[in-house]
Amino acid sequence: MNPKNLLCSLENMESMLNSFSFEELSTAEASHLKRSFQAFKNDLEQKVFGEPGSVAVKVKKESTNGNSKGNLGPSPNMLIAKVSHEIRTPLNGIVGFTDLLKEDGLTSKQLEKVNAIQSASYSLLEIINELLEYSKLSTGLEDFDTIDFNFQNVIKEVTYLCKTLITDKKVTLETEIDPDIPGILVGDPSKLSQILLNLLGNAIKFVEKGSIRLRIAVKQKVKHQIRLEFAIADTGIGIPESKLPNIFNAFEQATDSTFLKYGGSGLGLSIVKQLIENLGGDISVSSTLGVGTTFKFDIPYGLGNGKKAGQAQEPKIKKEKVRQSIKGMRILVFEDNLLNQRLIEERLKSWGCTTFITENARYGLDILEKTGLDAILMDLRMPEMDGFEVTRQIRQNKDATIREIPIIALTADFSLGDKNKCKEYGINDCILKPYNPDELMFTLLKNRGKNMELTEALKKTVVNRNQHSKRLDLAPILKDCMGDVDLLQELIQLYKQNALEFIGSAKTHIRYGDFEELGLAAHKIKAGLAMMQSHELHAIIVQIQEACKTQGDVKKLQSLYSCFVDEYSKTELNIDQAFLEIKRKGK
Ligand code: ADP
Repeated sequence: MNPKNLLCSLENMESMLNSFSFEELSTAEASHLKRSFQAFKNDLEQKVFGEPGSVAVKVKKESTNGNSKGNLGPSPNMLIAKVSHEIRTPLNGIVGFTDLLKEDGLTSKQLEKVNAIQSASYSLLEIINELLEYSKLSTGLEDFDTIDFNFQNVIKEVTYLCKTLITDKKVTLETEIDPDIPGILVGDPSKLSQILLNLLGNAIKFVEKGSIRLRIAVKQKVKHQIRLEFAIADTGIGIPESKLPNIFNAFEQATDSTFLKYGGSGLGLSIVKQLIENLGGDISVSSTLGVGTTFKFDIPYGLGNGKKAGQAQEPKIKKEKVRQSIKGMRILVFEDNLLNQRLIEERLKSWGCTTFITENARYGLDILEKTGLDAILMDLRMPEMDGFEVTRQIRQNKDATIREIPIIALTADFSLGDKNKCKEYGINDCILKPYNPDELMFTLLKNRGKNMELTEALKKTVVNRNQHSKRLDLAPILKDCMGDVDLLQELIQLYKQNALEFIGSAKTHIRYGDFEELGLAAHKIKAGLAMMQSHELHAIIVQIQEACKTQGDVKKLQSLYSCFVDEYSKTELNIDQAFLEIKRKGK
């Protein structure tokens, strides 16, 4: 059977399945059946159509043969999920490294170029986001910003970028901006860039020799609103008249050979149209084959309050504070992509954080057991054990400090399901790749506190547990002393002496940041605590030792120290009472 016919039959089966009354089955069984069928169909479609990039064209060929277009291509969700991950992961590397480059003291020319790369990457990202939210757009659920932005800057960035796209071509790009357009407008600048980049990108693609003109004029101006008209005219190959009415439809291309010669998905114009309409505007096209094409659209904008863009100094200051606050954090990163491993290492190092990077879940879990950490950055997709499974294991650890460690997911996939799953598994935060450094910085800061809160929580549990615990039983220790109460008293004396000595010396070591000495002092007292059945104190000492090994953070050590002091006073009281009990019994 021809694979496409097979898919057609499957399509029929699917609609039958959907309309079938599942009286015999429970709702869960019926939905399970539907899900299995959908998964099977998706797998099959992928096998028949191969890589997602080629899908659109194949679907179109079907329609030009006069057959029903149906839904033979993969569902947008399936296409999106695959493309998204493949693009976002390398894009994360590009955006991240350009961020790092910008911190290297570049010349203004270099900076301009790096900005262009970034801008391009972000536009690409924006497009992926649009793809990901394709269904959202059609249902009008897309989010649109309404912010003050510098209109001239947006146009300057877009045209600069487009000029870098015109390579080896005898093509000129001219811009004509109505001088009546105010400097600051209120609206969504990134959507405007996306629209322009799409249309200018197409023009560049379809003009071999000639010109592209971007004209922006004021179409209407009322009180607080201005309607701008944009025209992008090119002298390119043009679009056949018969294709013009459908050119804004998804997956539509002018001719069957367009894809072979120029590539593309046929999604750009449909996204542009939906964006413009959502922004309150309209788009039209006129074209003559072999002469050129003009796209015209208009968008309303609010008028800015006259404040000049680029005045925002505040976030910078705040950023510096945040940077200081995350300095010294010890972060374990689960990441399997080499480029991203290097990127995150450099990024975190530049903020003064200590990093442990691994793609191997078991090795990471091992580090976690042996090292005191402040946070975990978790790639959700890893080859051997995925991020959810690693998180599950961490959240089940018997040690509270490990179990409660903040986990921040880094994911290249967009899915609401994943977000819910993150919550379910106890992932504290989620960052979508590629992320900007500020986002990572703020998220780390937000979660840093949780570690301190944990120590406080530990303090409370220790205290509570102690308050409710039964009296300490010294009988087994007395047995070890062969019933010699005086020997037991001597032991208790020694125990108290050691503990007080530790309390005194630890304070000094913490004050001078002498982690090695503090670690040694902790080691010295550990055996005595275990012998005297001071389990809570023992647990705190283990944490202090761990924190010392990684040149621990002082705040955490201070908190553990005060935890120890509190707990010790209660333990001492318990021991004294238990000892009195023994003495009373002995009399
Ligand atoms: P893509 O460019 O990815 O194929 P678009 O939706 O942006 O998708 O464009 C759809 C089709 O419209 C293109 O494939 C091309 O055939 C035609 N087209 C768009 N812009 C132009 C243009 N400026 N000149 C000629 N043809 C164009």
